[in-house]
Amino acid sequence: MGVLADGDVRLVDPAAPVFSAFDLAPTRGDGAFESLLVQAGQPRKVPAHLARLRRSATALGIAGPSSAEWERLIAALLAEPVETDAVLKLVLSRGVEGEAGYTAIGTVSPLSADILRQRRSGIAVVTLSLGWPADARAAAPWLLGGIKSLSYAINLAAGRQARERGADDVIFTSTEGLLLEGPTSSVVWAVGSTLRTPPVSTGILAGTTQQALFAAAGPAGLATETSAGTVAELHAADGVWLVSSVRGAAEVVALDGRTRSPADLTPLVQRLTGIG
Ligand code: PLP
Repeated sequence: MGVLADGDVRLVDPAAPVFSAFDLAPTRGDGAFESLLVQAGQPRKVPAHLARLRRSATALGIAGPSSAEWERLIAALLAEPVETDAVLKLVLSRGVEGEAGYTAIGTVSPLSADILRQRRSGIAVVTLSLGWPADARAAAPWLLGGIKSLSYAINLAAGRQARERGADDVIFTSTEGLLLEGPTSSVVWAVGSTLRTPPVSTGILAGTTQQALFAAAGPAGLATETSAGTVAELHAADGVWLVSSVRGAAEVVALDGRTRSPADLTPLVQRLTGIG
């Protein structure tokens, strides 16, 4: 584990305490984070993740480390060879309540067997309402639409709800029934050879994996579209995936209890995300 303080990187024992009990991350979830995939010892999409971390910090009004400082932390964390694929987390907290400064840490941990299974075999997904209209967050910056904040208790609760219903994951919908995102992933579906994803004006996170996939799609002969969608459109789609940095593209093989036919495009979509 690594700690960034005043521009200095300090590697510490993973079991070492790094947060004060008065830090606003553990007490309020007041901060931002990023999860990067490490493959063959190399962190993936670093500029995109650091750009989003900067956007999150700015939206939260936290003067966090510079991108160069985060890069130094990443380099220090990966100085020891990492044998298997791993997840590298960068965490930025507003810091101790009432004090100036922030808390910034990074960790590296192995990928869970479940992530690898879901990437390989696909996932059963349930749709759950997030309880907001699709446009609620566009004009309400305090709702932190599009910000990867540390307040993920709702996202984790949705995952538990999915498992209680015998599924692996969730697609959130708006109160009008429009598609939003997964608790930790972006939704992509195919209609013929066109890949679609919902617009970020709905307050969803701008997914770095979805963006990389769409950038690679054109040269591979696929069209892309950002457009509102419904659960009915997912049922009718030629392929549905939840895409994210660590899991890659996981094919949705069952949606709200209905089994889907395997999508011909899955190997290509996984190749285009570069994670397979
Ligand atoms: N949406 C949410 C809410 C997420 O938490 C994540 C990733 O963790 C994503 C989408 C996908 O983002 P990325 O592809 O950058 O990992």
